[in-house]
Amino acid sequence: MHEVEYKSSGVPLETYELARGDHRRQKQGEETSQWAQRQIDEDIAKCRADPARAERRRQAFEEAAKLMRSFKKADHEIMRWRIRLYCGHIVEKQAHYTYADPVSAGVGSERCDECKGKQSTIVAFEPIGLRAEPPKLTVPMPPPPPKKPTRAELERRVKALEEENERLRAKLTTG
Ligand SMILES: [Zn+2]
Repeated sequence: MHEVEYKSSGVPLETYELARGDHRRQKQGEETSQWAQRQIDEDIAKCRADPARAERRRQAFEEAAKLMRSFKKADHEIMRWRIRLYCGHIVEKQAHYTYADPVSAGVGSERCDECKGKQSTIVAFEPIGLRAEPPKLTVPMPPPPPKKPTRAELERRVKALEEENERLRAKLTTG
């Protein structure tokens, strides 16, 4: 796991004076989401008129959902961010840990639940922390030291050697 230097922008929990750039980005964001909503509405209308199209669309969504599930990340790979939105609400968002800030993770604006899902530009953010601690690297255990023979074992071995000695000597004298 490589180290990422997480960035902050302002202090989300402190009062924030909206800048000209914030107003501009908010306006662009609203226009984009209105445009996207129109596309969706048109598509829904077309699907209503054409059941085959609706079925294709349903399958495409299912495939996409399956793909998303396969990308599911472990908790320690998810960074939590405290984000201040244009509307003034504070929300928490999550992004893959490799992103140094939520904006580069592709989150330029968010739907604010408290504003009935209205799209709101991010004006300040700070990292909270990973969703879970990364797992500790497991150091392989050294193999156990060879077991020392017990006294009884040594005595047995000595006795066996003595017996063998005895046998050989007897063989020599007789042979
Ligand atoms: Zn809001």
